[in-house]
Amino acid sequence: MNTTGAADPSPGAALGILKKVFGFDTFRLHQQQVISALLAGEDAFVLMPTGSGKSVCYQIPAMLRDGVGVVISPLIALMQNQVEALRENGVRAAFLNSSLAPEEARAVEARALAREIDLLYVAPERLVTESFQRLLERLPLALFAIDEAHCVSQWGHDFRPEYLQIASVTSRHPGVPRLALTATADGQTRADILQRLEMPGARCFVASFDRPNIIYRVREKHRDRAQLLAFIRSEHPGAAGIVYVRTRRRADDTAEWLQGQGVPALPYHAGLGADVRQRHQQRFLREEGTVMVATIAFGMGIDKPDVRFVAHLDLPGSLEAYYQETGRAGRDGRPADAWMVYSLGDVVAMRQLQARSEGDAAFQDTQRKKLEALLGYAETVACRRQVLLGYFGETAPGACGNCDNCLQPAATWDGTEAARKALSAVYRTGQRFGAGHLVDVLQGNATERIRQLGHHRLKTFGVGRELSRPEWTAVFRQLLATGLLSVDLGSLAGFRLTEASRAVLRGEQAVRLRKEPPRAAPAKKSRDAGAVEEELSLPEDRELWERLRELRLRLARESDRPPFTVFHDRTLKDMVRQRPRTREAFLRVSGVGETKADRYGEAFLAVIAETAGSGEDD
Ligand code: ZN
Repeated sequence: MNTTGAADPSPGAALGILKKVFGFDTFRLHQQQVISALLAGEDAFVLMPTGSGKSVCYQIPAMLRDGVGVVISPLIALMQNQVEALRENGVRAAFLNSSLAPEEARAVEARALAREIDLLYVAPERLVTESFQRLLERLPLALFAIDEAHCVSQWGHDFRPEYLQIASVTSRHPGVPRLALTATADGQTRADILQRLEMPGARCFVASFDRPNIIYRVREKHRDRAQLLAFIRSEHPGAAGIVYVRTRRRADDTAEWLQGQGVPALPYHAGLGADVRQRHQQRFLREEGTVMVATIAFGMGIDKPDVRFVAHLDLPGSLEAYYQETGRAGRDGRPADAWMVYSLGDVVAMRQLQARSEGDAAFQDTQRKKLEALLGYAETVACRRQVLLGYFGETAPGACGNCDNCLQPAATWDGTEAARKALSAVYRTGQRFGAGHLVDVLQGNATERIRQLGHHRLKTFGVGRELSRPEWTAVFRQLLATGLLSVDLGSLAGFRLTEASRAVLRGEQAVRLRKEPPRAAPAKKSRDAGAVEEELSLPEDRELWERLRELRLRLARESDRPPFTVFHDRTLKDMVRQRPRTREAFLRVSGVGETKADRYGEAFLAVIAETAGSGEDD
């Protein structure tokens, strides 16, 4: 019944097809091994990031082995694109899904029976039908490829019940090799995939998830738009980027606001008409320097190589989603930024969302763990790349030197006392208030509300005057993120103690907190301009600042690096303040070490000397 071909072709034939059909001279990592395994009739599991060439792993063996390669894929649009691309390369490929009329489907089946098809793409719903089963019985089969294999797992983020029936189909064809592929699977999902697809003996090929050219940064959110604008202006002026937000409304508003600030931004979300979405996507792909402000609806199948930054103005849904979304930056291998801001409010919203989610206990537990992982990533003071790769079950060789925590080690402080005060304030106010009220209690602000509630008579009233409101907010955010507090579902979003809080309250557990880097200029006049400019009020200061920035951008471009790796804004600001004239003076500027003084000193000193000279003439 199962035809595996008279003689399996040699692996050398695979290289011939790679060159002739796909136009590549060499295989990428793991491709050749996977192909060899399938040609030898073995099952295989492939975990590789998007864009690393997974599909060749089954396309080539399907063409080399006798019979039809059946590719199970859940995404109809992607299926059609892939088949079209294969046909362009002269490959005999077709698909069967709900977009075909019955007579079209019958024509495809007839071609398969006439052995005129090497690759047949099919949606999982169709795979499990009786009529498709009968077709499979009559076809010689080269292999089964199960794309987006994580859909079989309830641990994964994209569970599809039909995937659970795949194993019952493939088990009727023992001896036909199977390949499961995914770009997203943590350790648990991976084990689940192999079990549910009944492929315990599959050879596993796992490519590194590392994207070394992406710099990961996470900041505290306080004025998100102004922060975003300052980031775009100082580091990516004129570059293409994607800004992710959580709601359609925010996508529209943010895009419009950016346009008003001179940034060519467009919204993209499921609430826009198909024609508008199409138009915006085309502009993003074809024009230089367009910034797309999008909800998660944007990005699937987008392969623009020169996206220089992906910014998250809100927390993503999970670390998997974050990895996929940030992975759209820097496909060309050149430096790119993954930049995110988030706040206490975001943590509260995510905690509430998770608590409201429906499903059985196991599902709830998974969701909780996923949120924990996301918040852990956001709050970590360790190398972000290590945390991210660790989540995908990969051990990074060491700290990466290319994330914010590596570039500028985050300071921590002993927050045990502060945590105890905060938790105590939560407890004494009855575990029903949010951060705003609690900070008033801690700082001893005898507001009308505080007096009405009698909270000015509490023992904790005024015990926290040593910290500012933003500092207390950061304390509450971290307590909530690390599970030392939980949050109510009500509209008040009051904080509650957790099991873990008790040990801290009893003084049995120390708490280390992350020190937030100082905020750039406070929003006194709530002007939404780049914060740095606000501080440089003298025209000659502003002129020098602009010229130093130009120089930084030029040097950064020459060496193909992001500007802030030349010098940070605050270093440039310090140059404006100090106006060094000699190398010794230059070395006294904050953020200038020997190496950078050697590399850049001359150029910066020259600009400073010129600008100062013209200033004196005025
Ligand atoms: Zn790092």
